[in-house]
Amino acid sequence: MAIKIYIDQGHNPTGYHNTGTSWYGLFEQDITYQVGVYLAGLLNSDPRFEARLSRPTPSTVLGTNNTTSLVERVNMANQWPANYFISIHVNANLNTEINGTEVYIYQFYTQSNWLAESVIDGIVDVVGTKNNGIKARPSLYVLKKAKMPSILVELAYLSNPSDMEKLRDDQYQFAQGIYIGIMRYFGFST
Ligand SMILES: [Zn+2]
Repeated sequence: MAIKIYIDQGHNPTGYHNTGTSWYGLFEQDITYQVGVYLAGLLNSDPRFEARLSRPTPSTVLGTNNTTSLVERVNMANQWPANYFISIHVNANLNTEINGTEVYIYQFYTQSNWLAESVIDGIVDVVGTKNNGIKARPSLYVLKKAKMPSILVELAYLSNPSDMEKLRDDQYQFAQGIYIGIMRYFGFST
């Protein structure tokens, strides 16, 4: 049986509720959408995996506000039921010098923790972002309510000019980094 991975592309298309951060004319939800599509493509071309997307088309809108948007994503993953939940986001900070990749989990010393370590290493290896490590964020709804190991990946900082260029130009590489991280977590050769 294939390992079922639910890929949640953070936020909704521009113009709707829950749209995420925006810097330098780029929108978080466009980046997370495309990285998710690439990641699903990589996983679904490997018979060991089956991936589903929270936003299968660019115009998919989930929920009617920030809360119900998150509820819908988690419900879909729980009802499938997925074996793993991977939420994709991009970070931002008013201090534009802050950069790098972070992965959030509900709790340390869990399968989520080991998957997060593998995924962050995969991204840093492929894309060359700074490794900001794993952080516990137990208040994040999707991490709290998903019934399977779940990680929230902050690919890089859209507010940092160098990270922004990577987020704009290296979207496939971000997906590849996550994919390699998943492969290593399972001990599959890459
Ligand atoms: Zn976000």
